[in-house]
Amino acid sequence: MFEPAIELMKPEALLELQNERLKKMIRYAYDNVPFYKKKFKEKGISPDDIKSSDDLHKVPFTVKDDLRDHYPYGILAVPREEIVRFHSSSGTTGIPTVVGYTRKDLETWSRLMARTIACPGTKKGDIMQNIYGYGLFTGGLGFHYGAELLGVSVIPTSTGNTKRQLKIMRDMKTTAIACTPSYALYLSEAAIDEGYKPKEDFDLKYGLFGAEAWSEEARKKIQDTLGLGAYDCYGLSELYGPGVAMECEHQNGLHIWSDEFLVETTNPDTGEVLPPGKRGELVFTMLTREAMPLLRYRTKDLAQISYEECECGRYHPRILRVSGRSDDMLIIGGVNVFPSQIEDVLFKIPKLGDQYQILVDRKILDKMTIKVELSQEAATDKNLDRNALLKRISEELVAVITIRPKIELLEPKTIPRSVGKAVRVIDLRKSN
Ligand SMILES: [Zn+2]
Repeated sequence: MFEPAIELMKPEALLELQNERLKKMIRYAYDNVPFYKKKFKEKGISPDDIKSSDDLHKVPFTVKDDLRDHYPYGILAVPREEIVRFHSSSGTTGIPTVVGYTRKDLETWSRLMARTIACPGTKKGDIMQNIYGYGLFTGGLGFHYGAELLGVSVIPTSTGNTKRQLKIMRDMKTTAIACTPSYALYLSEAAIDEGYKPKEDFDLKYGLFGAEAWSEEARKKIQDTLGLGAYDCYGLSELYGPGVAMECEHQNGLHIWSDEFLVETTNPDTGEVLPPGKRGELVFTMLTREAMPLLRYRTKDLAQISYEECECGRYHPRILRVSGRSDDMLIIGGVNVFPSQIEDVLFKIPKLGDQYQILVDRKILDKMTIKVELSQEAATDKNLDRNALLKRISEELVAVITIRPKIELLEPKTIPRSVGKAVRVIDLRKSN
């Protein structure tokens, strides 16, 4: 544990700290960010109306478009000269969102990242290969500085060049890898293709996987092949980056570092705050960020929160797995489908590989096609009954998603691999 005094705080002490910080933060945002002053005035509230987290619902939401409206520098509470670093989203879906950090913000983020990396057990003495992209994306530098602060030996390989990643992993006896879960799946496949016996040739213990929603089945596959524990990390570039929440060794949900992030679960349609334990949209209020305070930031991530004590001794509330972003949800002929539900089904069926793609199109009605690769063994099995396999996939999918997509079996290695986030869904309706 990196900061046991904070990580093991009892719920009452944690709440007290949150309330004290919240009051200060509300006043700070109001006094220093014209955007918030205006929003408060429009709603007819003053900072003094927020006395504790019970009053938080009175504060208006902040959404991604608010950040885009403040392009390029974002909602800054400090003069631009105080910013020592910028990160930015890729902007592939519109205007990029830029986030600025003061020196103190970078220190806070590094501490949160050190806690995050240490959470499943990684410690000084471990060797971490950091395969997240270094650059505008927050993953690379976020993990890098957190690991250094923790005292872990960092190998900053960044993304790409899978053969070299594997060679370094073996030669330098890497014990922890940090990357996206889809790249971890790809690494497990590539390791075997390159003739490695991962469990014998590698010394891997911890996989720190984030930046994508992934399924329990994907976790099992990665753990079984690479012989490590696969742990889920959660973050958003708008809230520092990674380091918002992390799984501990018990793999039973992601602890939100709630001395820094106050979480609410809300009804995504009405904005109403839901009682603890109900599934809804995660909304975060940052409690100490200097450069760019965010109050009640809507994430579009749907999840359930547990406030129970964890076996590790931490009370920091746990996200019980993000089932997907509301943005990722597909509506097929009026039925809601999450790609992660499809992944769960596919990964449970033997004879199928790890790579799949979901295509959605609309002629008159919505049409969904799922292309999935056969495993290497199944592809070379002359006795494989492909029709029976197609029928099984179809039936198991109907049982979960209630609609019957068209299934296509592909030969192994026909779907293009990506080094960052995998392209799992192609929705042609959007371009029509
Ligand atoms: Zn725990």
